[in-house]
Amino acid sequence: MSRAQRVTVLGATGSIGLSTLDVISRHPDRFEVFALSGFSRIDELLQLCRAHRPTLAVVPDEPSAARLRQGLAAAGLGTEVLLGERGLCEAASAPEVDAVMAAIVGAAGLAPTLAAVHAGKKVLLANKEALVMSGALFMAAVRASGAVLLPIDSEHNAIFQCLPSDYARGLAPIGVRRILLTASGGPFREWPAEQLAEASPEQACAHPNWSMGRKISIDSASMMNKGLELIEACWLFDARPEQVEVVVHPQSVIHSLVDYVDGSVLAQLGNPDMRTPIANALAWPQRIDSGVAALDLFSIARLDFQAPAPGRFPCLRLAVEAARAGGSAPTTLNAANEVAVAAFLERRIRFTEIPSIIEQVLAEEPANALDGLEAVFEADARARKRAKQWLTRQGR
Ligand code: NAD
Ligand code: MG
Repeated sequence: MSRAQRVTVLGATGSIGLSTLDVISRHPDRFEVFALSGFSRIDELLQLCRAHRPTLAVVPDEPSAARLRQGLAAAGLGTEVLLGERGLCEAASAPEVDAVMAAIVGAAGLAPTLAAVHAGKKVLLANKEALVMSGALFMAAVRASGAVLLPIDSEHNAIFQCLPSDYARGLAPIGVRRILLTASGGPFREWPAEQLAEASPEQACAHPNWSMGRKISIDSASMMNKGLELIEACWLFDARPEQVEVVVHPQSVIHSLVDYVDGSVLAQLGNPDMRTPIANALAWPQRIDSGVAALDLFSIARLDFQAPAPGRFPCLRLAVEAARAGGSAPTTLNAANEVAVAAFLERRIRFTEIPSIIEQVLAEEPANALDGLEAVFEADARARKRAKQWLTRQGR
């Protein structure tokens, strides 16, 4: 076999980052860690450096770098420490790197993910916000550089597995009628709508099937996650919003389906564990052990499906509207959502105010064309400012 693939893991201290390192450590002959990044958990990052001995580590600022360097020296490690967004971009695009796991949460991941794309790397995309905020530009950069873009989001990885290898030709030429995007419905699927205003961050983070970072857990509870994923699917698979249908499937065993014009529907099933899509993308087009237990259909026994309850999850409607509007609308939606989710986690707003903020910001910022990365960052900044103005107006 050829030499081990060198992997940069952006967001190594997070839920996806740790699952990625778990899969990598099962295959020392296939993968070696080139760079790791962390943001607030510097001690955890040091532990990861001890275990994986990367060439580079990236932290946000000088105090974090000083702390990490001290720990590295004590452990006798020669890992070089880089800083901030420049450091992230360097770790993502260095010539030694074969594959980049983009697992930073939110808009902060866009620049380093794009750096990996521009450098023509194999890009394992978990950071859906990066694609949602800059879709057209991101996909044009993938085509221009020849980067190999592999979806990590379980639904998109499932769709990827159910499509033929030439899916980039477009859905009609390969005979796809629809994409069926499954959703667990989150922790509030069966809550009475009038109780949602009282939901706490702890209740919203208690996902029934998946263990994830806090931001995506809140997005799952509001179903904004499914909205972001619908936009993500449109970009990854060149679909129109009306070709993607959301199907609530509470067991999270079917990770998504593809409906073909001949009546065949292909699905990917598995236990809800992100190590499966991560292993699929790391080894693609081969298959490797991920550490995930075999699916036991007898213990699952039944699979249920429902349409999303209209009205209960306004975030999903707002995302579909933004997908249809195009241009800067998804950028605005994503930025307003990031501000609203952070405010909810800090207990400054109610759960039901998350969509109120986003709807207001979308109304104040009509969709316009995005002609470059500057325009993306400007639209993102304008939406964040509007969302913060909303909070100030409401005295939060
Ligand atoms: P997490 O909160 O557990 O981890 C986020 C990582 O990003 C951490 O390593 C953190 O240090 C880093 N980070 C946070 N803010 C940063 C900043 N401003 N600059 C640089 N680094 C920063 O999140 P997660 O659950 O691992 O999710 C990561 C991404 O993967 C998200 O975009 C999420 O939507 C996506 N995703 C996650 C899952 C899952 O099961 N966790 C599934 C599908 C998609
Ligand atoms: Mg998902």
